[in-house]
Amino acid sequence: MGITVESLIKRWDGLGVVMSHHSETDTWIFVALHDETLGRPTGGCRLKSYGSPALALRDAMRLAQGMTWKWAAMGYGYGGGKSVLAVSGPLEGEARRSLFTHFGRLLNGLGGAYSVGEDLGTTRADMSFLATVTPYVAGAADGRQPPDPSPFTAVGVHAGIVACVEHLFGSDSLAGRTVLVEGVGGVGRPLALLLARAGASVITSDVDEDRARLVAGECGGTAVEPQRVKDTECDVYAPCAVGATVNGATIPGLRCRIIAGSANNQLETPEDAERLHERGILYAPDYVVNGGGAMAFGLMEEGITDETELKTGVQRIRSSLGDILREADAADTSPVVAADRIARRVLGRE
Ligand code: NAD
Repeated sequence: MGITVESLIKRWDGLGVVMSHHSETDTWIFVALHDETLGRPTGGCRLKSYGSPALALRDAMRLAQGMTWKWAAMGYGYGGGKSVLAVSGPLEGEARRSLFTHFGRLLNGLGGAYSVGEDLGTTRADMSFLATVTPYVAGAADGRQPPDPSPFTAVGVHAGIVACVEHLFGSDSLAGRTVLVEGVGGVGRPLALLLARAGASVITSDVDEDRARLVAGECGGTAVEPQRVKDTECDVYAPCAVGATVNGATIPGLRCRIIAGSANNQLETPEDAERLHERGILYAPDYVVNGGGAMAFGLMEEGITDETELKTGVQRIRSSLGDILREADAADTSPVVAADRIARRVLGRE
C-alpha cells in the first residue's frame, strides 16, 4: 500500500499539520508545523502539482523539518514550518487570486502560528497579494511589498565564503582568491559583484553564456563554459544555479578548495559530504550559507527595514558558519555533521 495522509501524520515527529481543500481550483493545502522551540514556525509556500495529496503532505513535512534545522544551525529564533499548495494544474489570474485569498484566510485562522514566504512555484506577486489578505507574510508587515530576497542571500553567501577562506587560509582577505560562481542570476550576479569588490578574481559560468560573459565583464573577471566548471581550478566553487552538482561523478575531478554557494541541495547524496571531507575540500552546508534571504525577512518581522542594517544582520552567517567549521575540525568530521550536531544542541535534542 502507498503512503497515506494518515500514516504520514502518525509517523511524523513534528507539531502537526493543518489541511484544507480549495474546491474552486481543486487544490489541497497543507501547512506543516514542525517545531517551535526557537520561535514561530516560518518557511516558504511551495505551489506544485503532485501525484496525490499524500505526496504533497510528505513534501510539506520534509521541507518543514528542513526549516527547523536550517534556523537552528544558523542560531536564529524561528521554528520549522512550510506550506504546500498542491494544485491540479497551472493557475493564473482570478483563480490564482482566489486560491491565495483562501490560503490567506486560513493563515488568519491560525492567528500567527505560521509565517509564510516565497518558495518554488510562488512569486513575489503572490506574496504581495497574500499580504493584502493576511499579516502573516514574512517581510510584508503593514502591507509593505515583500522585497526580493536574492541580494540578501548573496550577502549571506559572501559572508559564508569569507568564513571558509578565513578558516582554511588563516586570513579573511579575498584579495587574490579565485571564486567560480556557477549561475549568475538573482543571487549569483550580486554575489559576483561583491566578491570582485572584495578583491577576488571572479570566474563566471551560466547556461546563458551571454549572461556569464556580461557579468564577468562587470566584475573584471572571465567566463567559462558550463561543462568546464567542474575541472576549472579555483579556491572557491560557488554553486548558485541548480542542485546536485556535487556528486560521486564530479567530486573526484573538482579542482577547488572550498564549496560555498546558494543552490539548494548541492550534494546529490548525504555520502557526498564524507567524500568531500576525504578529498580535503571544505564544504559549507548549503542550508546555512544560503539562509541570508530568510534571515533578512526575519529581521524585517522584528521591525528592521533599513537595508544596510538588514545586510549587516545577515552577515552573522559568517560567525555561525565559523563555529560549524571549527566544530567539524575538532571532531575531524564533515561540516554537515557538525551543523547537524549544533542544531540538535540548540534545539535541546542531544
Ligand atoms: P535565478 O533563476 O535568478 O538564477 C539562476 C541562474 O542560473 C540563471 O542565470 C540560469 O541561467 C543559471 N542556470 C540554470 N541552470 C544552470 C546550470 N545547469 N548551469 C549553470 N547555470 C545555470 O535563481 P536564483 O534566485 O539566483 O537562485 C539560485 C539558486 O539559489 C537556486 O538553487 C535557488 O533555489 C537557491 N536559493 C536562492 C535564494 C534566493 O534568495 N533567490 C535563497 C536560497 C536559495
